[in-house]
This record gives sequence, C-alpha cells and structure tokens, in this order.
Amino acid sequence: MRFTGLALAFWGSLCTASPVDAAGRCTYDAVLRDAAELALSVAARCEGVAEKGFSAGRGVPMDAFEDLQRDASGETVSYRIRLGELAKRGSGADVAQRVGDMVVTTLPIWLLQPEDADARVELKLRAEDGLDFAVNLTAKDGRYLLSPEDIAYGGYAAFGRFTRERIAVGDGAIDIAHTPGSMPMDAAEVKQAVGEAAAEIARFYGRFPVKRLLVLALPGGPRSGMEFGRVRGGGGATMMLRFGTLSRAADLRREWVLVHEMSHVGGPFVTPRGFWLMEGMATYVEPVVRTRAGWYAPEELWREFARDMARGVDALTRESLNAVTRRGVYWGGALFMLLADLDIRERSKGRASLETCLRAVLAVGGDTTQRWTKERVFQVCDAATGTGTMRRLADAYVERSGELDIAALWRDLGVDVEDGQMRFDDTAPRAALRRAITSGPAVN
Ligand SMILES: [Zn+2]
Repeated sequence: MRFTGLALAFWGSLCTASPVDAAGRCTYDAVLRDAAELALSVAARCEGVAEKGFSAGRGVPMDAFEDLQRDASGETVSYRIRLGELAKRGSGADVAQRVGDMVVTTLPIWLLQPEDADARVELKLRAEDGLDFAVNLTAKDGRYLLSPEDIAYGGYAAFGRFTRERIAVGDGAIDIAHTPGSMPMDAAEVKQAVGEAAAEIARFYGRFPVKRLLVLALPGGPRSGMEFGRVRGGGGATMMLRFGTLSRAADLRREWVLVHEMSHVGGPFVTPRGFWLMEGMATYVEPVVRTRAGWYAPEELWREFARDMARGVDALTRESLNAVTRRGVYWGGALFMLLADLDIRERSKGRASLETCLRAVLAVGGDTTQRWTKERVFQVCDAATGTGTMRRLADAYVERSGELDIAALWRDLGVDVEDGQMRFDDTAPRAALRRAITSGPAVN
C-alpha cells in the first residue's frame, strides 16, 4: 500500500508507527549445506504485505527451484537450489559459475522476490558443513536488510570454500573472494591490480565511491589481461572480474576493463533507458583516469576517442540516445560525455568539469547501489555546475537526434589523426581544454 501525503498525515496522527514500519515485512532464512552440491535451502514468510506471493526475476531459470512449496495464502514459500548443479549449465557468473569449491551467483538467482514492492526483506544467511559465503549487504541484528528491488538488481555472492583478501581504500574496504591456484596471479598481484585501479578512481571522484565493495575474482580463458567484468549493485556494491589466465598485474594497467568497472561503482544504475548514460560515463571516464595515472598517453586517448567516437555519432545525429543500441550505447554515450565536459569547462570558465557533476551525483548518494532516472542525474549535475549543460545536451540528443559537426570538434580541439598517427595542434581554439581533460587534477 502506498500513502498519499494526506493519508500519511492521518495515519501519523493515529499511531506512532512510521510509514516505513507500516510496510509489510518478509523474513527469509537461508542455509548453505553440502560441499559437493552447494545446496541453499530457503524459507520465506511475508506478513502485513499488500500483495501476496513471490516471483522469480527476469531470466531466472525456474526449474532451479527444487522442492518449491507455497502455502495457499501466498504468505510463505520454501525451496532448495543446488548451486553446483546450476553452475554445470555454463550460463556464467550472473546465473552460477563454479571455480574449484566456490560458486559465484547473483541475488535474484537464489532469492525469490516478494510481490509487494514496498515490503522490507530481512535475510538470515548461514553456512554449515565447513562452508562459507560472501555477500555485500547491510546487516542489522544478524539479518541483512533488502528491498524487493534490491533483490531484482542484486549483487554477486560467493558460496562454498574460497579465500578472502581485504584492501583498505580511504575509510572503506574492498573484499576480494577468490580461489588460489585457479590463475597464475597470486593474491598479492590481484590485490595490487584491484587496489591501484581503486586508488585512481578514488582520485577522480574525490573518494572511493562506496564504503565497501565485494570483488569476485574468477579465472577466464588462456589470454592476457582482463577478459570480462561486471558491476551489480542491488543491496551493496559487487564486481565480478574474469582474469585471463595469462594476466599479470602490470598488464591490467594497459587495458580498460578494470578501471571501466571501477568507474561504474561511482554512479547510480540509471533506468529506464539509461544504459547509454552509464556506459557513456564509464567509457569516457576510464581512459581519462588511466591517462592521469600515467598508464596511458594523451596521444593514445585522443586517437582512441577520434577513432571510436566516430561510431557514436549516429547515436546523436540519427537515432537519439534513448533509441540507441550496441556500440552506440558506449561511444554515443562517451561522445555525449565529452561534449558535456567541454561545455561545462567553457561555461564555468574552468571552475567546473564533468567531474564536478559526477562528484555531485555521488555526494547525494548516487552510487551503484541506487537506481536513478536520467532526469535526476541531469538535475543534480546542472545544480552543481551551474551551467545547464546536461539539460541542453539532453534536449538536443536524448529524446530526439540533433546536429553535430564531429570534424569541427576534433579540429577545434587540435586533434588530427592521419594514417593512425596522432598530431596535436596546440594553436587550435580548444587545445587548452583538451590538455586540461587529461592533465587533471580535478578542477573543483
Ligand atoms: Zn560498462
């Protein structure tokens, strides 16, 4: 049940319960048993909910829920999931992936969600048979607190037997769960790679974006560098990283994946139709951060931007960002961020930049654990910079397509790529802006 302002005042005068307390409450008890099966037994009961029943998230294989029992009233449900069996299907870590004695899965796979979106979920989780689990959820009185939406967007979790490492970042921490011996990078190297990427992201945002991040370090195929990474934030920030088995820590500075994923931790999940904004932000921020760290040369960054943003032009000038798919999500979004960064710097006369905007979003809680609309991002950003940049660019390119002279953009920045060779023209009208973007430090 949702209260209008009037009903809320009336309710408040009748009893001392806050509207939060008035929402239904669902208690879940989950137990992990059996080292071979890694079986999770879950029992849930909802009381005082407006809508009865439980459902699985989108894409969740329903046949994974064994011994599924619901009572007729829709208040209780119990089931068992054998994570070991689920991992055999080879669907990857967003469903279940086994590495040695550890299975990595995500919250919506092992928790059915209450139908009542306003319900408070309290989860008690324990492990028997010498097994362990790693989640990043907020606990109170021995129970993890979640909303049904947190479950839907829910983070990665590790179950079974694995090793934990901790890196202190500012006044927070990054916990890493991994299985030693599954890849040549030892714990010290994994910590080094994750820790130095986190430190650079902290420099960009002014602080590490979250108090706690859980990283699941998995081995990928026989290649160098990071094979894949993904951030999921429902209930708490988590990151799954699949390291190529030939990787060493130093290789990871030379490629984009780790810093790209770390930058996602610093922004909210934007919905609906917000992938271009999230991916555009990370695609733009990552090479900027690596260049400021000295891991990437300014010439490499501008060559990459000039080459790859060409694939994003249609997203702005033909499709509109809201309608964009595939490469346009990344490079159309990144082009939007470059235009925003330049405009903010120019209109503020160098007092603000895109960082001012992204830091402001983070300052009011907009990290990866939160769901925001695009409008909210634009408003917070524009309030921080005072330039109105996001509103103007959104009007031009988000709902409908607009005009953009990309050749003039590169010419004005003094970016000239011919036969793959990068040549800077420092006499170009916006050359100082180009240098300011890569030299840092933050201008606010
Ligand atoms: Zn991304």
